Amino acid sequence: MSQRIGSGKSVKVGDSGSTSVNNSRLVQCLHKKPCVVQTSGTDLNPSRKFYGCPYWKDPKKNCDYFRWVGTNGDDFNGHEVEATILKLEESIKRAQCKAERRKKEKQLVAEELINVMAVHDALLAESRSIKYDVKLNRYMLTILFIVNVMVLVVICSMK
Ligand SMILES: [Zn+2]
Repeated sequence: MSQRIGSGKSVKVGDSGSTSVNNSRLVQCLHKKPCVVQTSGTDLNPSRKFYGCPYWKDPKKNCDYFRWVGTNGDDFNGHEVEATILKLEESIKRAQCKAERRKKEKQLVAEELINVMAVHDALLAESRSIKYDVKLNRYMLTILFIVNVMVLVVICSMK
């Protein structure tokens, strides 16, 4: 018996046009039958191809073999594995969203901090200039007081 491997021909199965026997890799299900390639219709894996049991239409015969096309990972048995993978992918996505939101929040806080620092610097500069003005005023008042005293002394001494 000779079987050609590597011809890569696609054979239509049943009424599903996207279902084909992939001979190029000869992935076998738990029945040791060549798998059919099907297309995932889930939200997280739209149009993603996977290998399945050729008897997938018959729940009694289906061995629930599952494996994504293009992965050489372990041969998974059962669609509950896909469900678990989907759940994990979902939680990864949620975690990524969360991380992104945190990052944005951090950026906002950093920007706010820069604004606050700028306001702080401006207030500090203003307070310094006010202090300088106050010092200058005191100095001028002292000079005026001394001049007044001198004028009074001069007036008194003229009498
Ligand atoms: Zn099978």
